[in-house]
Amino acid sequence: MMPGRPHTGYGMTSQRTRARMIERLREQGIVDEEVLAAIAAVPRHVFVEEALASRAYEDTALPLGFSQTISQPYVVARMIEALRAGRDLGKTLEIGAGCGYQAAVLAQLTDEVYAVERIAPLLAKAKLNLRAIKQLKVRLKHADGQFGLPEAAPFDTIIVAAAAAHVPRALLQQLAPNGRMILPLGAATQQLVLIERRAEAYVETRLDAVRFVPLLSGVE
Ligand code: SAH
Repeated sequence: MMPGRPHTGYGMTSQRTRARMIERLREQGIVDEEVLAAIAAVPRHVFVEEALASRAYEDTALPLGFSQTISQPYVVARMIEALRAGRDLGKTLEIGAGCGYQAAVLAQLTDEVYAVERIAPLLAKAKLNLRAIKQLKVRLKHADGQFGLPEAAPFDTIIVAAAAAHVPRALLQQLAPNGRMILPLGAATQQLVLIERRAEAYVETRLDAVRFVPLLSGVE
């Protein structure tokens, strides 16, 4: 399947609905102004299928094709806010780039963003979408993210957009000293887990219950 052409024209409707989305995120408890500004700066309709563009600013996950979904804005905001808490993101790795939406939000907040995706046509879509919004600093790679991205490690921040049963060991190893990683853990029931690498140990904090697609092995 060929990736569709990104559709960038959406005009005023997008401006207004985007502002409403940011208001809703505030109501849901997102307080980091830089995160809110980053989300406001990314036109989410560019990243969803044309038929769904009118729903792009609803706070829901939407289908991406290939049984995958574009992340819910609240969850993107919540994860990035937890990762930032009191510091900059620094060199950041995203596992599960999908259509590139979250990578675009990350790129508003830090200059070094690496993103890996295991489904080649989705990666191609992410490339087109990021190009359409002139976001050229995200470095995309077709790979199984369970192994991280050894050639660019270590990372100050790792954000995983698919749920694993266990924390992949390679990701722990590729976390820089004082680095932070957030990932959904579990299967039928999942929870966001924040992991900080301290001098002698990894410190885990359990956050919200969530629902992500599974982290799968291999590439396709
Ligand atoms: N970050 C995306 C969400 C994509 S959904 C957004 O902003 O909307 C999660 C993605 O993780 C899917 O595209 C899926 O193909 C991918 N994925 C699952 N397991 C993976 C793995 N082992 N390595 C890389 N990507 C993976």
